[in-house]
Amino acid sequence: MKTYDAIVVGGGPAGLVAAARLAEAGAATAVLDPEAPWEKPCGGGLSPVALDLFPWLADLEQTSRRVSRVHLTSVHGASVTLEGQEPYFVLSRRELAAALLARARAAAAEHLPHRVRSVARDGAAWQVRHDGGQLRGRLLVGADGVASVVRRAVRGAFARSDLGVAMGYHLSGCPLNALRLWFQRPEGFAYLFPRRDAASLGVGWRASLRGGRASSRRLLERALRSWAPGASIVGRYSHAFPSMVSREGWAEPRVGEGWALVGDAAGHVDPVRGEGIIYAMWGASLLADAVIEGRPETYEDRWRDAFGGSLWRKLPKRWVLRVPGLAGAGMLLARPFPRARECLYRRSQHHS
Ligand SMILES: Cc1cc2nc3c(=O)[nH]c(=O)nc-3n(C[C@H](O)[C@H](O)[C@H](O)COP(=O)(O)OP(=O)(O)OC[C@H]3O[C@@H](n4cnc5c(N)ncnc54)[C@H](O)[C@@H]3O)c2cc1C
Repeated sequence: MKTYDAIVVGGGPAGLVAAARLAEAGAATAVLDPEAPWEKPCGGGLSPVALDLFPWLADLEQTSRRVSRVHLTSVHGASVTLEGQEPYFVLSRRELAAALLARARAAAAEHLPHRVRSVARDGAAWQVRHDGGQLRGRLLVGADGVASVVRRAVRGAFARSDLGVAMGYHLSGCPLNALRLWFQRPEGFAYLFPRRDAASLGVGWRASLRGGRASSRRLLERALRSWAPGASIVGRYSHAFPSMVSREGWAEPRVGEGWALVGDAAGHVDPVRGEGIIYAMWGASLLADAVIEGRPETYEDRWRDAFGGSLWRKLPKRWVLRVPGLAGAGMLLARPFPRARECLYRRSQHHS
């Protein structure tokens, strides 16, 4: 059985960034994912800080679009358009994954297109069983998303109250000039994220919300009619995502003896807006820094310092989304862009 320094389970943004960085530093690294690169159900929107942290993203031009017009609709149907924001960067998940996979392979990480079935501690190492056989690894990185096998082994699955669900459409032939968000009471939203030639339109809601699926489906159809009349539906999707609201969830460790969790498997998703790609890549990069320095346990402080506090502090602001009118939603979503960007950037500089 082959032994690796690091086995990364999952080849999404978190796993591929971790694999590339660890392999670049000379660690024998395997990344397992039967799907990668693929069009993961997602809006594909990256907030402005993404290009500061990962400037090479700007080279991804096949499907991407920069959007600086944001159109918000409140729970009561009032709308406002915010212009001149720092641009969002929106792209297809397949293009992002293909670029990340190429970087990981160039760094000599080995991609094994297999699904991991189980992981178990075996002395000082981990034994990983997958569709094509078994591997051993000294460090096990759980980057396998919201239903993570690694997470279940080291921490247990997410509580239902810490989960969100989203469903939506990939569209062609719809307006692509603005990013659109529409809030629904309580704690639901619709979004339209335009890419170069297509868009992702969907709705998200809290998994534990009674009747959430039915009311979200109605919102999805209304959003489709008003934002994209005449558009063609080229694909449909539905997927869960972590939406941590419990204090216990935020307090739990993301690193332990020979293991670490990154991205969705770690619950690193903005609990208000559902944004997770940037935190997946950022967290993975911080984990790699910690491992390369020979102090993997410092990953815990690194991610909490860099972005954990700001995600946690957003939670009380969830009430804003239930308030009629736009003052609250506008305040929450528009004003912090430049400020948040500056603040996040300073923190990342501090840690790099
Ligand atoms: C509908 C929807 C819309 C979203 N929109 C946005 C958005 O616009 N912007 C944003 O920033 N975030 C968005 N998110 C959140 C974002 O998709 C995630 O936060 C992000 O993908 C997390 O990256 P990750 O690498 O941790 O996990 P993932 O991208 O989920 O990758 C996990 C990978 O692990 C693989 N895997 C799973 N199980 C196994 C296994 N047993 N063995 C091997 N491989 C396995 C999967 O194939 C997958 O490729 C959205 C989420 C959803 C559901």
